[in-house]
Amino acid sequence: MTDFKLIADTEWRNRLSAEEYRVLRQAGTEAPHVGEYTNTTTEGVYSCKACGAELFRSTEKFESHCGWPSFFSPLAGEAVIERVDTSHGMTRTEVLCANCESHLGHVFTGEGYNTPTDQRYCINSICLNLEEKPIED
Ligand SMILES: [Zn+2]
Repeated sequence: MTDFKLIADTEWRNRLSAEEYRVLRQAGTEAPHVGEYTNTTTEGVYSCKACGAELFRSTEKFESHCGWPSFFSPLAGEAVIERVDTSHGMTRTEVLCANCESHLGHVFTGEGYNTPTDQRYCINSICLNLEEKPIED
């Protein structure tokens, strides 16, 4: 089994497109409102574009109107890593894939969204792959 945490930077450049590399491996951000999954309501599971780990489900996706796919919770707590990000003069919480440590987006808390957690996992579409399938709880 591949240990995605050990993949060299040059290998990531080969595996990913230039734009995927910029967002996933250099903590970039895709432009708002243009991402493939911004308004998607299809039932299914979103996995990491870089390593394939399952990260989010359509059942926790909600319409935040912020311009990026938004989830009120990850599929499982251990699926993602959250760490403080002080880049760009702001203090935010960065969200990374726990399996390959690629950048996914940021999580914001207490914005007043009418969701069970009042959290918004603001995730770049380009970091995700949607597999259509029924969600069973
Ligand atoms: Zn990953």
